[in-house]
Amino acid sequence: SLSDRLTSTFKNLKGKGRLTDADIDATAREIRRALLDADVAVPVVREFIGQVKERALGSEVSQALNPGQQVVKIVNDELVQILGGDTRRISLAKNPPTVIMLVGLQGAGKTTLAGKLSKHLKDQGHTPLLVAADLQRPNAVKQLQVNGERAGVPVFAPHPGVSSEFEAATGDPVQVARDGVAEARNRQYDVVIVDTAGRLGVDAELMEQAANIRTAVQPDEVLFVIDAMIGQDAVATAQAFNDGVGFTGVVLTKLDGDARGGAALSVRSVTGKPVMFASTGEALTDFEVFHPDRMASRILDMGDVMSLIEQAERSWDKAEAQKMAQKFVDQEDFTLDDFLNQMQQLKKMGSMKKLLMMMPGAQGMRQQLEQFDDRQIDRIEAIIRSMTPHERVAPKIINGSRRARIAKGSGVHVSEVNGLLERFGQAQKMMKKMAAGGGGMPGMPGMP
Ligand code: GDP
Ligand code: MG
Repeated sequence: SLSDRLTSTFKNLKGKGRLTDADIDATAREIRRALLDADVAVPVVREFIGQVKERALGSEVSQALNPGQQVVKIVNDELVQILGGDTRRISLAKNPPTVIMLVGLQGAGKTTLAGKLSKHLKDQGHTPLLVAADLQRPNAVKQLQVNGERAGVPVFAPHPGVSSEFEAATGDPVQVARDGVAEARNRQYDVVIVDTAGRLGVDAELMEQAANIRTAVQPDEVLFVIDAMIGQDAVATAQAFNDGVGFTGVVLTKLDGDARGGAALSVRSVTGKPVMFASTGEALTDFEVFHPDRMASRILDMGDVMSLIEQAERSWDKAEAQKMAQKFVDQEDFTLDDFLNQMQQLKKMGSMKKLLMMMPGAQGMRQQLEQFDDRQIDRIEAIIRSMTPHERVAPKIINGSRRARIAKGSGVHVSEVNGLLERFGQAQKMMKKMAAGGGGMPGMPGMP
C-alpha cells in the first residue's frame, strides 16, 4: 500500500524545519503511483501533483510527523478539497416537483440507482415518482418497475399492460418524461426521478435524446451516473456527457468492487461537478451520500492512517517530540526517564489503541498493543518515580534489594517491577533500531 511504500521511503525521523525538495519529490513519486493505481486519469494526476508540490514546498514541518506523513497529509487535504469538501445535497425545487434526471452509459447503474435514490428520498419524507424514460431496451421498463416495487415507490411507465399505475400516451421517451413530470405535478408527488437510456459507448443519438429530455423536463438536477470500474475512460465519458447533455452532479456506482475510486477525482477535476452519492451494491440499501474524506482515503489506500496522523499531530507535545527526535539522531542512551516521558505522551494521545492497531506495521506489535491500558501507565509512572535518578539512567544497577524497595515505595508487587524493567529493556532495543532507521511513529517504542 501507499503507506507501506512511504514508510520505506522515509526511514528516519529527522528534526528538520522545512520540507525539502527531495522530501517532496520522493513522496510525490509514491503519490503519483498511488493515484495511477487508483485509475485517476493521467492528466489529472499531473495537475494534481503540481498543486500539491506547490503547497508542500516551504510548508512548516510538523513535529509530530515525518516528511512522508506530512506530504501525505497535504495530499489528503487537497483530495478532500477537490472531491467537494462538504457533501452536496440534492437541491430541491422551490415549486415542487423537484425533477431529477439520470444520465450515463448503459450498465452504469442508472436504473438500480433510481430505486435506491427514490427509497432514500422516501425515507426522508418525500413522495417520489419514478419515470421510465428508457425505451431502448425491452426490459428496461420492467426493471425499473421491479426496483420501484422494492422501494415502495410508484413508476410512471409508457407501455400499457405492464402492471403500472400509470400509462403514458406514447412510446417516445421525451414524451414519456414530459408526461411523467406532469403526472407528478397533478398527483402531488414532490420529487420525480427520470430514468433514461444509455448506450455501451458515447453516441451522438443517445446524447441528443438525453439533451431533448433535459430540455423537455427542465430538471433541477441532472445526475451523471458512472461506474467506478471504468478507470481511465472516466474522463472522456464525463466530458462527453458534460458537453452533450450537461449535468449538475455525479453518482459513482459499483464501489463495492475493488475499484479504488479514481474516477471520482477525474470526473470532479475535469467537469468541476461534485460527486453526490455512491452506490455500493445491487441491493436497495447499498447506497450512501458521498463522503469526500472517505473517498480520499480510498484513493490513497490509506486505511485509517489519516486519523492516526491527525491524532498524533494533536497530541504530540512539540517540544518533547523535538527532544526525542534529537535523541534518535544522536543515538543517545534511552533512559527510564525517557521511557516515562513516552508513557505520558501516549496517555495524552488517549484511547489510541484502536487507531494504533490499524496502523500499517502494527501487526508485529499487536500483542503489546492488546495489553495496552491507560491505568497501566499510572502504575509504571509510580514505579519509575520510586527509583533514584541514578537508577533511572543506569537500570542495570537495580538488583534484588533495590527492586524490593521500589516495589514497596510504589505499592506494587516485585513482579511488576521486574515486568517493567523487562519491557524497558525491549523498548531500549527498539529505540536503537529506530535510531538506525527502523521507521515508525514517535511514541510507539515505549508501549508497555
Ligand atoms: P443502467 O443500464 O445504467 O440502468 O444500469 P443498471 O441499473 O441496469 O445496472 C447494470 C448492472 O449493474 C445490473 O446488473 C446492476 O444490478 C448492477 N449494479 C448497479 N449498481 C451496482 C453497484 O453499486 N454495485 C454492484 N455490484 N452492481 C451494481
Ligand atoms: Mg437502465
